[in-house]
Amino acid sequence: MRPTGKLHLGNLVGALQEWVRQQHFGESFYFVANWHMLTTDYADTSELRSNIQEMVTDWLAVGLDPNKATLFVQSPLLEHAELHLLLSMITPLGWLERVPSYKEQLENIRDRDLHMYGFLGYPVLQAADILMYKANWVPVGEDQVAHVELTREIARRFHGFYGPVFPEPQPLLTDARRLPGTDGRKMSKSYDNAIYLSDPPSVVSKKLATMITDPARKRRTDKGNPDVCPVFDLHKVFSSMPHQHQVDQQCRTAEIGCLDCKQILAGNINKGLAPIQERRGPYEQEPERVWAILEEGTEKARRVAQETMKRVRAAMKIDYLEASRRRTPTAEKLPLGHEAPKRKFRFNEE
Ligand code: SF4
Repeated sequence: MRPTGKLHLGNLVGALQEWVRQQHFGESFYFVANWHMLTTDYADTSELRSNIQEMVTDWLAVGLDPNKATLFVQSPLLEHAELHLLLSMITPLGWLERVPSYKEQLENIRDRDLHMYGFLGYPVLQAADILMYKANWVPVGEDQVAHVELTREIARRFHGFYGPVFPEPQPLLTDARRLPGTDGRKMSKSYDNAIYLSDPPSVVSKKLATMITDPARKRRTDKGNPDVCPVFDLHKVFSSMPHQHQVDQQCRTAEIGCLDCKQILAGNINKGLAPIQERRGPYEQEPERVWAILEEGTEKARRVAQETMKRVRAAMKIDYLEASRRRTPTAEKLPLGHEAPKRKFRFNEE
């Protein structure tokens, strides 16, 4: 996950819930993709550190457990950069230019120049991130499926040249529901329409009070249509079935006003957020605990990454030094005229 700072309800439904579920089913790795962040937000890095801290605090708050899943930061693991470089040697340019999100973002993001080498190549970095841990499953939203497919293509190409090393990963589709933000567009930090996991109850109620509703329902006495109302989309995720039925009926008959409806929703969202915020508290007060968890996870991930890279270098036959170390003859067997290197004098040695 790219470190964008505090996480919102859309992140919870679109990714985190599935991550928490998956940590019980097998070995899982979740990482802060801070190099990926630089592919689009390269100019100003001043908030990266605090954004990482806020994001991982939310991971822990929703229930990711460092004893079950490995939580780490990408950039201290230089193995990711090495694998990215090696995979970039065999990835045809056309594959990257055809990635749907590449063109889409080039067209839509106008406030910075994305015609950068790193931006075009970021699916290769993503492939390296996935293949490094020999992942079988990658939890992604619909929009990222093409990237997992590309990862498989890159792995196949690698195997064609150098022999099998990686399993071919499959996408594990997370909840496809697009959560609307307060303005009705997809909930997103960049649209300034998000309800954050750390928002106190009063802020949640206030944000919901401004949320757009069925545009045809202008007066309290007008009958509404929940099918076209973004508020009701949130009810579908955060309210119980009886509450949903009640709101659906009473909206259609104008028995209930939009403010009452939003209050019911606020109550349900706040009830869901209460345990998350309770878990968040201690990490918020002692952020060094968050960094310690990341440090430990990063070291754990490093051991896996180092093993993978040994295998990759050996498969590509570029492990010259390791290979020569394995073959170094003992002193007695050295050919005439070649002396075994002398042991270095150590200070304090008798
Ligand atoms: Fe939407 Fe609720 Fe108002 Fe109906 S009553 S239009 S569901 S906010």
